[in-house]
Amino acid sequence: MRIAVVSDIHSNLHALEAVLEAVDLEQPDAIWCLGDVVGYGPKPEECLRIVEEQSALCLAGNHDLGVRGDVELDDFAPDAAAAALWTRGVLGAEARTFLGGLVPQAEVDGVQLFHASPRDPVWEYILTDQAALAALEMTSAPVVLVGHSHVPLAVTVDNGLLDGGHAPAETEVDLGELRWLLNPGSVGQPRDGDPRAAWLLLDLDAGHASYRRVDYAVGETNDEIREAGLPAILGERLFSGA
Ligand code: ZN
Repeated sequence: MRIAVVSDIHSNLHALEAVLEAVDLEQPDAIWCLGDVVGYGPKPEECLRIVEEQSALCLAGNHDLGVRGDVELDDFAPDAAAAALWTRGVLGAEARTFLGGLVPQAEVDGVQLFHASPRDPVWEYILTDQAALAALEMTSAPVVLVGHSHVPLAVTVDNGLLDGGHAPAETEVDLGELRWLLNPGSVGQPRDGDPRAAWLLLDLDAGHASYRRVDYAVGETNDEIREAGLPAILGERLFSGA
């Protein structure tokens, strides 16, 4: 089974379309989304509709839950809270229904998936060795998928030692007999210094993970963020991917 794994789309339609064009060339068996379809960006309705149509599985992220009103907006940074409020105001009934049915963790085809982490599927960022180790210790599946940090990651434990880390463009990982924690990175707001949209091609039969990046029209998303009246910084940061 070959799966295209996407995460943290954040209402960035141009990034999502560019990723799906690249995904289409690979003809995977399924698309899985690790959550945060909305928040920050200008096209929540469009992104939700595409994900609903095309993904076999979609988790809820903290921003999705914030827009739903299921987590307090006080827990967000001010720009994120402002975007969540704006998103609430523009979503139609169908998009709200789809968003309302999402949950932050799942297990499918022997893979465990969490928006953020096994310890806290909604909020914990896995950005340290300790957090990665804890995530592997708290799970049992050969492959564990997380999103949320917007940083692509491939981490394993080999003979008791943590191995791997940041997985930049063109990282290829042979999963072998080891257990792996994988983060595809973010489609719509990358934060690892590479502004290109990120996704992961996971081949469960071949035991292989391939980290992909794709260019998209950052300037157009930035223009749409300004036109929507969202905080300008949410567009500006997309140019650096930081
Ligand atoms: Zn996110």
